[in-house]
Amino acid sequence: MALLVQKFGGTSVGSISKIQHVADKVISAREQGHDVVVVVSAMSGETNRLIDLAKEISTAPPPRELDVLVSTGEQVTIALLSMALIEKGHSACSYTGTQISLLTDDVHGKARIRSINSERILTDVKKGCVVVVAGFQGVTDEGHITTLGRGGSDTSAVAVAAAINADECQIYTDVKGVYTTDPRIEPKARLLKKITFEEMLEMASLGSKVLQIRAVEFAGKHNVPLRVLSTFEEGEGTLINYDEEGGMEQALISGIAFNRDEAQITITGVPDKPGIAFQILGPIAKANIEVDMIVQNVAGDETTDFTFTVHRNDYDRSLEILKKHAVELQAEDVSGDDTIVKVSMVGVGMRSHAGIASKMFEVLSKESINIRMISTSEIKISVIIDEKYLELAVRALHSAFDLEEPSPQNEENSLSET
Ligand code: ASP
Ligand code: MG
Repeated sequence: MALLVQKFGGTSVGSISKIQHVADKVISAREQGHDVVVVVSAMSGETNRLIDLAKEISTAPPPRELDVLVSTGEQVTIALLSMALIEKGHSACSYTGTQISLLTDDVHGKARIRSINSERILTDVKKGCVVVVAGFQGVTDEGHITTLGRGGSDTSAVAVAAAINADECQIYTDVKGVYTTDPRIEPKARLLKKITFEEMLEMASLGSKVLQIRAVEFAGKHNVPLRVLSTFEEGEGTLINYDEEGGMEQALISGIAFNRDEAQITITGVPDKPGIAFQILGPIAKANIEVDMIVQNVAGDETTDFTFTVHRNDYDRSLEILKKHAVELQAEDVSGDDTIVKVSMVGVGMRSHAGIASKMFEVLSKESINIRMISTSEIKISVIIDEKYLELAVRALHSAFDLEEPSPQNEENSLSET
């Protein structure tokens, strides 16, 4: 018997029949002997609908009032789910963020959680009651309603799980879990049974958008085992926790992530002298543009070339800023390309194995894919390549590193992931 937090996202509670289905899932966990605290999002589309209403009145709605408005979506679903549970013969009780004193700072629209009154929740749980908590919302010390930012119910669920010291925080969604790569690009992508927090952070930040990154960070910090699983299909999903085996039993590579939102800026022939990186990137930082990868060449003739990547939405602005500074930087040329992508291989197993990078480069070279930039960390190798090679690169790497779903005849002697 365990204490579980089960979080259901907007698509899982998008209609009355789906809410009934969620109630059945919660009941089945109860019947297995578990104590359950549920966290729900608003019905799918509801938060957007509320924001649109506000925008009909004001182009910049006052943040405090906007939070009062958008937090209502979750209040609807907690009540409906509790009613469904009660109707099915179970005891249930709904709570808003305010009612469980989910205290946050006062940054409306992206508030950060400070504390939760766990006693209130646990008292009900002990009575055999399913506690249904509104995700996404909190309250300040002064009693003002706040929200945690889009997708914030994931973070609410993890915070509740941490506060009540739950055995697991289960995030129910419309996918079966975390895959080795995006199944839309590589249909042979395999569902991962488990992955570490740090791998998940690398995968999430690179575009595997199953979970809010902040929720994963929070779970890692408070050591809350997280599980991503489907509301609509049976299965164990993917468990995200710490690397207890210390990398020994870990697969070399857990997954291949990619990011299409990249753009590259290159500035050539600038004097190779102290301060040049600052002179180039200073104005970019000042414009609040985030820089991802950076490469600077050493040139023989006392000048250097400098390349960095930014989000595609910031591409035009970055190019414009640098063109403005080109003369003062004594640059030969400023150019850019927004038809590039980043492909990354992620795995804690890399720590204890050499040669992964060179194998990656070999695979790409066999496909005649040109690598424009490379960056590495302890558990990740990323390359920038032309956008048109994305699918090819992901599939070639996925196959070269044996990430596929094992075929039925191989399954018996496969040693991976027990
Ligand atoms: N309802 C909120 C949103 O749409 C929070 C969530 O779904 O996690 O962003
Ligand atoms: Mg969500």
